[in-house]
Amino acid sequence: MAYLNRTALNLKPSETLAVKAKAKELQEKGVPVIDLSTGEPDIDTPEHIKEAAIKALRDGKTKYTEVAGIKELREAVAQKFQKENGIRSDPTSVVVTNGGKQALQSLFQVTIEPGDEVIIPAPYWVSYVPMVEIPGGKPVVVKAKPENGFKLTPRELESALTPKTKAVIINSPSNPTGAAYSEKELAALGAVLESSNALIVSDEIYEKIIYGNFKFTSTAKAIPSLADRVVTVNGLAKAYSMTGWRVGYATGPKDIIQAMIRLQSQSTSNICSIAQYAAVAALTGPQDFIPIMVQNFDRRITAALGIIEKTPGLRVVGKPEGAFYLFIRFAELAQSVNSPLVKGSGAFVNYLLEKAGVAAVPGEAFGDDQAFRISVASADANVTQGLTKIQEAVAAIAR
Ligand code: PLP
Repeated sequence: MAYLNRTALNLKPSETLAVKAKAKELQEKGVPVIDLSTGEPDIDTPEHIKEAAIKALRDGKTKYTEVAGIKELREAVAQKFQKENGIRSDPTSVVVTNGGKQALQSLFQVTIEPGDEVIIPAPYWVSYVPMVEIPGGKPVVVKAKPENGFKLTPRELESALTPKTKAVIINSPSNPTGAAYSEKELAALGAVLESSNALIVSDEIYEKIIYGNFKFTSTAKAIPSLADRVVTVNGLAKAYSMTGWRVGYATGPKDIIQAMIRLQSQSTSNICSIAQYAAVAALTGPQDFIPIMVQNFDRRITAALGIIEKTPGLRVVGKPEGAFYLFIRFAELAQSVNSPLVKGSGAFVNYLLEKAGVAAVPGEAFGDDQAFRISVASADANVTQGLTKIQEAVAAIAR
């Protein structure tokens, strides 16, 4: 008797997590691996956040909380949205979720009807496609072009819209490319969406990790006329180095947020109570460690780009505006050599792991099979050594 349903049978594990597991397995066998696959900052969670968690434990904050999150946290989130992002929000239109991931997953669960289309610009974060497919939605992947800095143009968006478009996902800054939309670019996308009823899903989890003069603007602020159909998703994982604590949140139209809370009440209930108190400290406490962390990423990105520029066959489209990844294309290498090692990103990334001892994520997971993603959330020496080893491995194929 086969018990698994079609959803389960079609569901693949997250490829970023799969790579990490493979790298760890090799490391445990004693094989040296430089792990550049990771999607989490390399600093520890700041001390004042940990202290808040310890205090919560000592104070006995160990019981169920409101499903949507403790009031202090929903207030802190609503304040943050209002003050930092220019988004109208209040504690009754905030839901605190088990990471940004759960916010997105429940959002699609409560909005997608079978056959609904969701526009997903590629390269995209790995989980968007399965998250849309699970409730029966149809991902409409629109490939953003490298020559446009991997950003969706208004024209491309317009031609992907149909009467069945239920939602459009905007992830700025983007995982994996680091591309981020300026206020003007968001407004231009918004102008196209005026003619549709599509919900706008804005995943802003990398908002605080931005470089140079780029100024981050929330989608709901950039397109005020459509603000009442934007759901903004964020979380503490990346900016506060709290990936393991699992705190995400969302704000948006009250009926949608309330439906997400109802779903949560029938599935996971509240997220960990202790993590919620830590999250209040994170959002309301000192923020000074963030620019230091961002400087570290920036320096490593510059160093890595220096090596990639000197590696024929590899190319990065400009310096990322945000996040902490480099999306490296090897299309030129694939064209210039006739080797099975460059036939697809899975084969190439496997080669890099075996030949160079460097773990990266295949671009296929992000909708581009001629690319791979590395993370700079690793010590400077790891990033430069890893890239140098990749450079040598590429030269060995090209020879
Ligand atoms: N959105 C994007 C673009 C991400 O890269 C991630 C994590 O890698 C998430 C959402 C989810 O983050 P979390 O569930 O850890 O808060």
